[in-house]
Amino acid sequence: MDEAVKKRLKTIPKMDDVLLILKERGIMKNVDKEIVKKASRRTIEDIRSAIRAGRKAPLTPEEVADKVVGTLFNLGEYRLRPVINATGVILHTNLGRAPLCREALDRVMAVSRGYSNLEFDLKGGQRGSRYDHLREVLLELTGAEDAVVVNNNAAAVLLALNSLSEGKEAVVSRGELIEIGGEFRLPEIMEKSGAILREVGTTNKTYLADYESAVSEFTGLLMKVHPSNYRISGFTSEVQLPDLAALGRRCGIPVLNDLGSGCFLDLDRYGLDREPTVREVVADGADVVTFSGDKLLGGPQAGVILGKKEFLERIRKNPLNRALRIGKMTLAALEATLMLYLKPETAVKGLRILRSMTEDVPSVERRAKLLFDSLSSIPDSGLHLSLIKGVSMAGGGSLPGSDIPSVLIAVRSSRISASRIESRLRSLEMPVVARIAGEEVLFDLRTITEEEIPEIKKGLEAALAKESRL
Ligand SMILES: *Cc1c(COP(=O)(O)O)cnc(C)c1O
Repeated sequence: MDEAVKKRLKTIPKMDDVLLILKERGIMKNVDKEIVKKASRRTIEDIRSAIRAGRKAPLTPEEVADKVVGTLFNLGEYRLRPVINATGVILHTNLGRAPLCREALDRVMAVSRGYSNLEFDLKGGQRGSRYDHLREVLLELTGAEDAVVVNNNAAAVLLALNSLSEGKEAVVSRGELIEIGGEFRLPEIMEKSGAILREVGTTNKTYLADYESAVSEFTGLLMKVHPSNYRISGFTSEVQLPDLAALGRRCGIPVLNDLGSGCFLDLDRYGLDREPTVREVVADGADVVTFSGDKLLGGPQAGVILGKKEFLERIRKNPLNRALRIGKMTLAALEATLMLYLKPETAVKGLRILRSMTEDVPSVERRAKLLFDSLSSIPDSGLHLSLIKGVSMAGGGSLPGSDIPSVLIAVRSSRISASRIESRLRSLEMPVVARIAGEEVLFDLRTITEEEIPEIKKGLEAALAKESRL
């Protein structure tokens, strides 16, 4: 070891000296002594590794004590926090996808603050099933025969594949072997489920005959997957669900359709790209349908499995279902979200993601002007603001390729770089997540509510002021 490094290692303060300082500063009043000790030990170890690696490190007992206080202070702060989504990506996977509606929040509170009939049949006074609470409303909204809900859609697909095709071949088009965000890759999920992937067709063209010739005594399932986050265009051909369902019926093989988003409304009525609704998919003859609770549906993270009774029975009874089961808070939120759909206009009004997707441009522009005026009052001579047109995205693997026109506020400072402002905005107590384009920070008003405008102003002001203090 380098002599200089050895010498520096010897100058690391003693743990007792650091603890004494911490005690004098009154830290032990709020934090248990053992926790302070552990944090101090860890900090000293970090300093030792830093010195060994030739990096700079705090060396006086006071400096080390400061560092310990820093880590203990962070410990008491919430890490999972609300943020303002100024990105214009409506179903932002990294920002928690769909915000919950008022009704869902109220039901989570009402059901979880005390006891509930989660698995209790209030009529008979005996054990009930957690799946019963949502079955009727789901069947009413989709026309399916039966329903089960699990933790998320990845779990729904895994469970359906395992229940219906373990040790047997699941036939899928090469054009539908998707990967979506968060490490969901269909071939890998399939392997874990115990189903054997049988690819048919080509990337751009798959015909019914391709499925037909793959069917044998080893086939367990015919599967169709929504491509979610990409589109194949040009010289293409895919088999429509009614044809695949007819083939399945002819051969006595169930057909699974993984929809990903799972839409309950006619989106084209609201000027968005057309997506088949869950009801249409059920009517088109899919035996089992899977989709997420927190994509286009606009509810909590959950996976919905719908379909024919005989297959849903097998899915419900699968021991894996117990491992993937849905919690009571999610059930409460999902039930409230589904109830809104009993009247579609209520869903569009009440669910923030549907409101964001369907809001007309003049209405977004009105909010953009409010933000513009609010930011204009920041007393900073280096600040340049402009109101510009742009596009928002549905995100979350929903409505791929459909840009939604929007209005944005672009912010530029003659003193601070855009990337600096953007990172400062992220580190605020109420973080604002914005986009950068060139030398400008962009705030997309489609994902910003009117209530968030004062907070953004406060945030930008703080981000700019911080710099002037340095
Ligand atoms: C999003 C998606 C999934 C995974 O759903 P999660 O709710 O994220 O678990 C599976 N399949 C498709 C087609 C999807 O779009």
